[in-house]
Amino acid sequence: MYILITMKKIIIIGGGAAGMMAAATLAERDIDAHVTLIERNDCLGMKVMISGGGRCNVTTGNNELKEVLKCYPRGARFLKTPMYAFKPSDVVDWIGGRGVPLKTEADMRVFPQSDNGKDIMKLYEKILETGRVQILYKTVVTGVSKDEKFIVKLREREDLEADSVILTTGGQAYRRTGSKGDGYDFAEALGHSITDLAPSLSSYMTEEEWVKDLSGVSFENVKLKFVKEDKYEFSGPIILTHRGVSGPAVFALNSMAAFEKVSKEDPASLFIDFCPDYNHEELRDGFNDTVSKNPKKNVENINPLPIPKSLFKKFVEIVGINKNANELSKKEINKLIEMAKNSELTLIGTTPGDEFVTAGGVELSEVDSKTMESKICPGLYFAGEILNIDGFTGGYNLQVAWCTGRLAGFSV
Ligand SMILES: Cc1cc2nc3c(=O)[nH]c(=O)nc-3n(C[C@H](O)[C@H](O)[C@H](O)COP(=O)(O)OP(=O)(O)OC[C@H]3O[C@@H](n4cnc5c(N)ncnc54)[C@H](O)[C@@H]3O)c2cc1C
Repeated sequence: MYILITMKKIIIIGGGAAGMMAAATLAERDIDAHVTLIERNDCLGMKVMISGGGRCNVTTGNNELKEVLKCYPRGARFLKTPMYAFKPSDVVDWIGGRGVPLKTEADMRVFPQSDNGKDIMKLYEKILETGRVQILYKTVVTGVSKDEKFIVKLREREDLEADSVILTTGGQAYRRTGSKGDGYDFAEALGHSITDLAPSLSSYMTEEEWVKDLSGVSFENVKLKFVKEDKYEFSGPIILTHRGVSGPAVFALNSMAAFEKVSKEDPASLFIDFCPDYNHEELRDGFNDTVSKNPKKNVENINPLPIPKSLFKKFVEIVGINKNANELSKKEINKLIEMAKNSELTLIGTTPGDEFVTAGGVELSEVDSKTMESKICPGLYFAGEILNIDGFTGGYNLQVAWCTGRLAGFSV
């Protein structure tokens, strides 16, 4: 009597960061399974290659996991298990140990030493060329269903059958690299709920023209408060642009307020404290000191506050002061200090930042964070941006793709 042993068939849908990591994990495991990776583009990891401005900010150098998890407005609790299983330092070791040396910059972002994201791609190509994973390029998945087995429907090709599927075709905020949101439809068809979706990590456009006049002026640390339906606060670096405000702290604020729609007709307020390290009294003392040393100078030619001179000059112009420093009234001094401590800007829209990510996705209560397997559809696994997890700029989003992709690759 013959016993027919059929090899388990695993299909990974999407060859982005999460799909490549799941495939690499399976390729490096010694298991009897037929693994197929399906990608609509003619190459893998298109988004990885353009990420971080082409340099690929692979992860964060921050290894305080409690602090790292605070950088995810959505999904932090779910992420705990996959993140502890494959921490940012593990990512550094994993990539570094496979021949791509990395470096951590002063702001804790981790990049290839070569500053070339293609090196990350070459690493995956090398792992995957062992032949353990069959890669179908230029192949578009049009649907996934499950009866006894999974049926993966392909455009202009025959359907494929699988015992397990890892679904990684997430993200719809940035469509140029192939993710158009169809992964959400596949997940929904298999019984999952999808939360509201919104783009995240944008800059803001402001109504105030004076901000645009100061385009290029940057600040190492300001305190921001966004007010619309809710309030959100964040401190960090910003830059004024020809459209409004940008920079890491603005991206983080936009990430926290991703679901607050902002438009000309329905704007939000942004309050900026340009001198978060000083209180009003300290600023007044410093102001009076500068005035007493420069009594006869025109106000616009002194710089009595710890802010860039161009910003102080702009405040003087807005208040409409044209007199010598010793002629300033108490009220005028207070007004200038108040502008430094609490400038209100009107946010009338968003513009894409350097990085884009989709906030929202597959409802996390329906996925087992210890395995990444669906609690609704056994044999179905998720990884990457398709999940309702998103983080700030700084390598946090690729970190999600790496750790969830790896966990899915181990669990399947
Ligand atoms: C411009 C830009 C810069 C970024 N920079 C950084 C950074 O420096 N650091 C960081 O941490 N994060 C960065 N991010 C975010 C990060 O790149 C993403 O969060 C991450 O790549 C998501 O990986 P993923 O595998 O989940 O999804 P994706 O990378 O979107 O991969 C999904 C893959 O599935 C394929 N696909 C989609 N639909 C189908 C289908 N129907 N059939 C077959 N294939 C399909 C797509 O072509 C794609 O290759 C950046 C994002 C952008 C857009």
